Amino acid sequence: MEHRALREAMIATARKMNTAGLNQGTSGNLSVRVEGGFLLTPTGMEYDALVPEDLVLMRFDGSHEGRRRPSSEWQLHRDLLAARPEAGAVLHAHSMFCTTLACLRRGIPAFHYMISAAGGSDVRCAPYATFGTPELARSALDALEGRKACLLANHGMLALGKDLPGAFKLAVEVETLAAMYWRALQVGEPVLLDGAEMERVIDKFKTYGQQPGPGDEQR
Ligand code: 13P
Ligand code: ZN
Repeated sequence: MEHRALREAMIATARKMNTAGLNQGTSGNLSVRVEGGFLLTPTGMEYDALVPEDLVLMRFDGSHEGRRRPSSEWQLHRDLLAARPEAGAVLHAHSMFCTTLACLRRGIPAFHYMISAAGGSDVRCAPYATFGTPELARSALDALEGRKACLLANHGMLALGKDLPGAFKLAVEVETLAAMYWRALQVGEPVLLDGAEMERVIDKFKTYGQQPGPGDEQR
């Protein structure tokens, strides 16, 4: 079997989506780019029951290899990975707070500077389309323009990463922001940061948190 270590990492991440509270049951799905295509979680299977052979190797023409049927959202993963070459992984979840906002068809505005983790000054909510359709893939692609995460109306959320840990980390961040925004909305109307401030934040993030490597001069 090809990509054993990656398949195991995907199963561990899929399980972590549930323990981290990002997901429940068989909702959600994960993909990781590999040479010539991508690996994708199978449709409708409990993450606890998954073994490496259950992951589906997909090609960009929609054909697949393996003993399982791919996630019903294979077109969403395929179209995102095709259109966003910088993305190595796509995570989809029905996380509680992102989905709550998505059911109100509200995105997350710049109520907190960390919104910039998703690539810009907001996280958009993609217009509704039925799950598992090319229309949902198109709607998500538009909402992800210039962004690494979006909400899906009456459905859930999506996070892109350069790799699997990156997509997982961003999904946790966006779900945390959605929870904070939802809580703030219970008390009043959150004060939003303006465009100039968000530009400053996005600029600072280009170098934020970088530590010197072993050979680097201490500054
Ligand atoms: P799959 O089990 O087919 O991946 O579907 C779950 C889901 O979240 C559909 O949007
Ligand atoms: Zn879904």
